[in-house]
Amino acid sequence: MVADLKARGAIRSPQVEAAMLHVPRHLFVPERCRPLAYRDSPLPIAAGQTISAPHMVAMMAEALDLRPGQRVLEVGTGSGYNAAVMAELVGDGKVVTIERHPSLAEEAAKALREAGYDNVRVVVGDGSLGFEEEAPYDRISVTCGAPEVPGPLLEQLKEGGTMVVPVGGLTYQSLLRVRKREGRVETEDLGPVVFVPLLGERGHRRSQ
Ligand code: SAM
Repeated sequence: MVADLKARGAIRSPQVEAAMLHVPRHLFVPERCRPLAYRDSPLPIAAGQTISAPHMVAMMAEALDLRPGQRVLEVGTGSGYNAAVMAELVGDGKVVTIERHPSLAEEAAKALREAGYDNVRVVVGDGSLGFEEEAPYDRISVTCGAPEVPGPLLEQLKEGGTMVVPVGGLTYQSLLRVRKREGRVETEDLGPVVFVPLLGERGHRRSQ
């Protein structure tokens, strides 16, 4: 899987390659999907949600340029796989990941423990408001589609920090890279993507 992602240009750096080689994706997918764990495909997880396709995890990690020691917020824990890849990349830093479904958060925390990641904190809550208690963050990764860049996330991003966030409608979004530089916000469109919606106070107003 990793060799294929490298050949297709989703993995560009040796750091992301090493991280994705280390994380056992099969621990983060439901038992019945384990034979498909190393295919480049999103897979269903509990609560009607999905674990993102590996190429998307790789592209987001590359776009974030994660470094050892950084503090990262992920919105949308899902299976915990993306959090594990980021945990590999920040090493002695920390990943805080927030999920609105308590059952998913519980399963993800279990998988992260089983895989040996003790630098990840899983929180249950509305990630459209970020997670003030551990802010500010060097990096923010939003793995669900927002109607716009959520204001609280921008506020919780450090000066010099980077966020990746899919922004758009309920079905299609553009993956934006947002950087805070000298008090200004710079936004770059990295291309079209498909994510489940970010719900909550600063997300799409739709029950799911
Ligand atoms: N990062 C995940 C992984 O590695 O498996 C995939 C995330 S899945 C595509 C999107 C997740 O965002 C879902 O689990 C969904 O419940 C969650 N979500 C949606 N709105 C949320 C919100 N306001 N706060 C926290 N999580 C939210």
